[in-house]
Amino acid sequence: MRHREVETDAEYLARMETGADWREEIEALADEEDVDAGWFAAMGAVRAAELWFYDQREKEYHAVEFDEPLEVAACVGNVSLLDGERFAHTHAVLSRENGQALAGHLNNARVFAGEVYLRSFAEPLERAHHDQTDLDLWLND
Ligand code: ZN
Repeated sequence: MRHREVETDAEYLARMETGADWREEIEALADEEDVDAGWFAAMGAVRAAELWFYDQREKEYHAVEFDEPLEVAACVGNVSLLDGERFAHTHAVLSRENGQALAGHLNNARVFAGEVYLRSFAEPLERAHHDQTDLDLWLND
């Protein structure tokens, strides 16, 4: 395990625009406030969503699309720099009308309504390629 200490320098609240993309709204907030590293939680509802599942053997993502109204029961993620751009790594638990849960890495989703809490860290975090997982991870050398 690798770790480092982080210092919180600001906290933000935002309301997402209806019809916008869920992840892009979080990235837009980070861009507007110059947040190069942070942690967020969000909740709300979406009209459609694309979740990704990472196949650990094939080392690639498989997309699953849902074209239906879903509740965002929980959403958590972090903001860091990936190839010089702010990237909101976003995971979510979505629920259907009958309460059934869908969950995974959220690539995109069309916002119905959304509320975000973002905590910004004082120092940037960079993602870099990690050979063992073939993923872009934090705290590489
Ligand atoms: Zn993920």
